[in-house]
Amino acid sequence: MQLENKVALITGAGSGLGLATAQAFAREGARIMINDLREEVACHAASALGGEHASIGGDVSREADVDAMVRATLDRYGRIDILINNAGVPDSFVPTVDQPLEHWQRLIDIHLTGTYLVSKKVAPHMIAQGSGSIVNLSSIAGVLGLPVRTAYSAAKAGISMLTRVLGCEWGPHNVRVNAIAPGYILTPMTEELIREGKIDSDRVRRRTPMGKLGRPEDIAEAMIFLCSDRARFITTVIIPVDGGYCAWGAPSDAYTGELTGAIG
Ligand code: NAD
Repeated sequence: MQLENKVALITGAGSGLGLATAQAFAREGARIMINDLREEVACHAASALGGEHASIGGDVSREADVDAMVRATLDRYGRIDILINNAGVPDSFVPTVDQPLEHWQRLIDIHLTGTYLVSKKVAPHMIAQGSGSIVNLSSIAGVLGLPVRTAYSAAKAGISMLTRVLGCEWGPHNVRVNAIAPGYILTPMTEELIREGKIDSDRVRRRTPMGKLGRPEDIAEAMIFLCSDRARFITTVIIPVDGGYCAWGAPSDAYTGELTGAIG
């Protein structure tokens, strides 16, 4: 029980990485407020976790919705120890010159502004209680140049810098801010991109030293560590959980073994 009695607000936790993190945190003794844009999905996820957990619909890029999710968490549990800024949507994979401006704006609003907004609204309560852990979702897209993933990549690079800035600002109050930069993890978002032919899972696996896609639980395990007291002196870091993807620099395939199963 590494998160016993801790209260966690997880955004976009109706699916994928957020849901796996909520499940793992509940197992470790935390009480969770599950947020998702899709209210019914959030509600279903919370009831599947059990009676001590709760849910709230809302858009992380809308200030009134963020105020409501922070208030609901405090009303129910009286504190917030952990914030996971996970809510996100994929890029369109349309060439930059053909992208409508609204598309860029929406991606930046959800990922970058959403992370900024929820952090800024939760931090005063963490500062007042003298402790807290925030973990943001960056990406390998925030490190490497991925064509046609313009707004997504810019937002993720911004999230990595936001992580450093806020970690420096709130460190004196014992509020830690870190990020995880996942590689290709098999979630509903990635599955859809593979189905639509926007991601070639064989090529990704060949490009990944460990020769496989990650599982949502791989991210959840790193989340548990970063939010536990075992990471009490770790702040402002961006941890890659990518099977070695970002380190690979040779022109050849990183993995030449057999590709097994749907995810290796
Ligand atoms: P997912 O689509 O399975 O889950 C994302 C959830 O966020 C959905 O339930 C969606 O309804 C919710 N959401 C979307 N917009 C929202 C908003 N404005 N407010 C609140 N909730 C909103 O996706 P995932 O793969 O689990 O991705 C989760 C996070 O991890 C995202 O930030 C994504 O960019 C990041 N990420 C994922 C991968 C991967 O390979 N899956 C890799 C790198 C980074």
